Amino acid sequence: MRTKGKDKEKLEKADAIVQAYKRLYKLKLNRGASGNISVKTKNGFLITPSGVSTERLNKEYLVELDNLGTPIVGSNPSSEWCLHAEIYKSKREVGAVVHTHSNFACALSSLQEDLPPFSYMVAVAGGKDVRCCDYAIFGSRELANKVVEALKGRKACLMANHGLVCCGEDLTEAMYLAVELEALCEQYMIARSIGEVKVLSDTEMKMVLEKFENYGHIKRKSKVK
Ligand SMILES: [Zn+2]
Repeated sequence: MRTKGKDKEKLEKADAIVQAYKRLYKLKLNRGASGNISVKTKNGFLITPSGVSTERLNKEYLVELDNLGTPIVGSNPSSEWCLHAEIYKSKREVGAVVHTHSNFACALSSLQEDLPPFSYMVAVAGGKDVRCCDYAIFGSRELANKVVEALKGRKACLMANHGLVCCGEDLTEAMYLAVELEALCEQYMIARSIGEVKVLSDTEMKMVLEKFENYGHIKRKSKVK
């Protein structure tokens, strides 16, 4: 990403995106050029490029798009740019979006089932469950719309036969949720493989959600809309 003049804030955001993308690789949540990350800017959002592997990625490759998806800086945005644009449009409080093709989220999403409240930690995504949106082909507006629908009242969702998407008030929160949701998917699949999962009731999850409002690092996170 090349910026004109001094735009320290944008450069810091670009650095944070590159670091986060490499962290996803180290954590085995992404590989090659799969998945993508964006962070909101004054004029739109910065997003990882299409088809650039983790090893090659540096901030020169990042693309800044306006809210309609028109490039401001750079020209080769992720094929999922529309998904990011629609999330920012529908959720004003969101400052960053992380999308991964992580193994357990991908595997679970192929069942096209919501992640139920098998653990109280499911509430970190903002509700009593994590929805799985219906399938639509990658990079399409149809997929973006389905994801936005599944994110109503939530900060994360599974994408059928594809992966996961998480959003937060900043990149730290979106990354935290991506790592946590992948772990939850793994735990749920282990539980499913050894027996019948007993899920928490709506009442129990309501109590957890209320407790999260005032609990440690989760307390500081944005309210879900
Ligand atoms: Zn994808």
